[in-house]
Formats: sequence, structure tokens, C-alpha cells
Amino acid sequence: MSDCIFCKIANKEIPSSVVYEDDKVIAFNDLDPKAPTHVLIIPKEHFSSALDINDENCEIIGHIFSVTSKIAKKLGIDKTGFRIVNNCGQDGGQTVGHIHFHMLGGRNLGWPPG
Ligand code: 5GP
Ligand code: ZN
Repeated sequence: MSDCIFCKIANKEIPSSVVYEDDKVIAFNDLDPKAPTHVLIIPKEHFSSALDINDENCEIIGHIFSVTSKIAKKLGIDKTGFRIVNNCGQDGGQTVGHIHFHMLGGRNLGWPPG
């Protein structure tokens, strides 16, 4: 998607602070962090939201969670814990139309969320 900001980050057309990358996924620090650790994990392939995930393409989501575990260890939040968030659509608070998983940690995040 030529006008998608996260596709541009994945293609290195827009700079980001990359914490993990492989052939399918890139993870980078959120520009406006909501916790001491706030990483966004995205597939390099464009999916608009969770609504685009189906039986045929859902393998990427499992891969993202395997990456999550690696990043937690790398950033030292595996022992203290973290939260993975996927916002979908207007009521979910999604502002960027390329599926992404927020990884938040480094402080007690409380529950329930706002
Ligand atoms: P959403 O609200 O869609 O779930 O989350 C979008 C996230 O992307 C927000 O937390 C926002 O701070 C982050 N974000 C938006 N534009 C950029 C950008 O250009 N670079 C980075 N690193 N993060 C961005
Ligand atoms: Zn995209």
C-alpha cells in the first residue's frame, strides 16, 4: 500500500527505531510511547486490521507472538511482564490502518484498561 505509513516504515522509506526484524515482521519503538517499553510489531505484508486475518493467512499472527517472546527477552521485560494490544476499528481506537500489535511494559499497566 503506497500511502500506508507502516508499509513505509517496513520498506525503510520512513525511519524508525527498529528493535527486531526478519523477513516477515518488523518491530519498532512507538513514536508516542504509553509505557517505558512501547514497541509496535507489524507484519511487513499489508493487512488493514484484524478483520483481514482469516484461515489462509493467520500463520503470520502466530509468528508475531513468537517474535513477541524474543523481544521481551531482548528488552528485559520477560520476567516483569507486558501487555499485547491490538486495536481494531474506530471503537477499538485504531488510528493506523495496517495491523499492528502494541507491546507495552516496564511498569504496572493496571487493569481494566481505559
Ligand atoms: P493505534 O492507535 O492504531 O492502535 O496505534 C498506532 C500507533 O502508532 C500509536 O501508538 C502511534 O503513536 C504510533 N505511530 C503513528 N505514527 C507513527 C510513526 O510514524 N512512527 C512510529 N514509530 N509510531 C507511529
Ligand atoms: Zn501497510
